[in-house]
Amino acid sequence: MRPETLAIHAGHIDDYSRAVMSPIVLSTTFERGEDGLSFPSGYIYSRYDNPNRHALEEKLNLLEQGSECISFASGLTAAMAVFHSLGTGSHIILPDDIYFGVRSIAENVYKTWGLSFTAVDMSRLDHIAQAIRPQTKLIWTETPSNPQLKITDLAAVVDLAKSHKLLTACDNTWATPYFQQPLALGIDIVHHSTTKYLGGHSDILGGALVFKEKTELSELVRLYQKTGGAVPSPFDCWLLSRSLATFHARMPIHARNAMQLAEFLQSHPQIEQVLYPGLPQNPYHEVAKKQMLGGFGGMLSILVKGGQAEALKIATNLKIFKHATSLGGVESLIEHRKSIEGALSPSPENLLRVSVGIEHIDDLLEDFAQALA
Ligand SMILES: *Cc1c(COP(=O)(O)O)cnc(C)c1O
Repeated sequence: MRPETLAIHAGHIDDYSRAVMSPIVLSTTFERGEDGLSFPSGYIYSRYDNPNRHALEEKLNLLEQGSECISFASGLTAAMAVFHSLGTGSHIILPDDIYFGVRSIAENVYKTWGLSFTAVDMSRLDHIAQAIRPQTKLIWTETPSNPQLKITDLAAVVDLAKSHKLLTACDNTWATPYFQQPLALGIDIVHHSTTKYLGGHSDILGGALVFKEKTELSELVRLYQKTGGAVPSPFDCWLLSRSLATFHARMPIHARNAMQLAEFLQSHPQIEQVLYPGLPQNPYHEVAKKQMLGGFGGMLSILVKGGQAEALKIATNLKIFKHATSLGGVESLIEHRKSIEGALSPSPENLLRVSVGIEHIDDLLEDFAQALA
């Protein structure tokens, strides 16, 4: 079956009712078999596994074409599980432009654990190569990056990593499997904040890892999930699985709207620069075209003429675009990143990050036209 069909039908939960849409199984415990020892349903206790979680992982695994999917209660818990699995004394390489929460766990949570990192411009392969040390275990990529939409050449990173026997991970939250299939390019682990496009409606928090191969490492991460219990609830799994049914219908509209908005903003006199890899003059366009599939996603950033005050004024003037954090929902959002990330944020003062929703494009263009007037 093709991804569009799998996103609707994979992981269906059969119960006695012959329900066409999957039920939610809230029970935390599952009955043993007649022999007193077996668990005929395969389920024991819901921290270990639950039918809705199992179904969700099956669907996500198929969409990313992996061998093993492990879901978590948030995107950051999923990232923590990867960092944790490397062991103390490890060194990792992160993008200099990265979702600030991932950098923050490396910097603050894992400091006392003995994990060190180097942040480099991952649009430059030579910069990544120079950061490799004897203790390096992992190259963690994020492409397009947050919030400056830099593009990393994933196939090139995989070649480099292989020659040094390093693991590779890709935060595929922004591109989603609709526009980018990192495992097919040789990446070992795909990371998701399912809170974003996979959830798609800004009402579920979640994370997932999809492994190219089932290995000792994926087994270890599975152990963290089952024994730690930072898992999505049955209801969140059910909601996310339901959201995935419309994933393939939503994504091309996000990308089409983002492209049109990028073109409109680029020619506006109050905008200094539009950061969107879909624009032919974008410095990362060629690499993005090579590795992204039929579109460039629904995220873009703009550098407005002026500084923080001018940027905040535009964010406030917009009516349809809500000034709020997060991204990937059907509704359009805009955010001034510097003021949420704090003083040490590398995000420029005049940068606004835009999550382009699936509203009618003319309404979105008119909203920007009035906000910039
Ligand atoms: C939101 C986000 C995360 C963190 O995920 P949570 O679900 O908020 O924990 C990680 N990476 C990227 C790219 C994100 O956008």
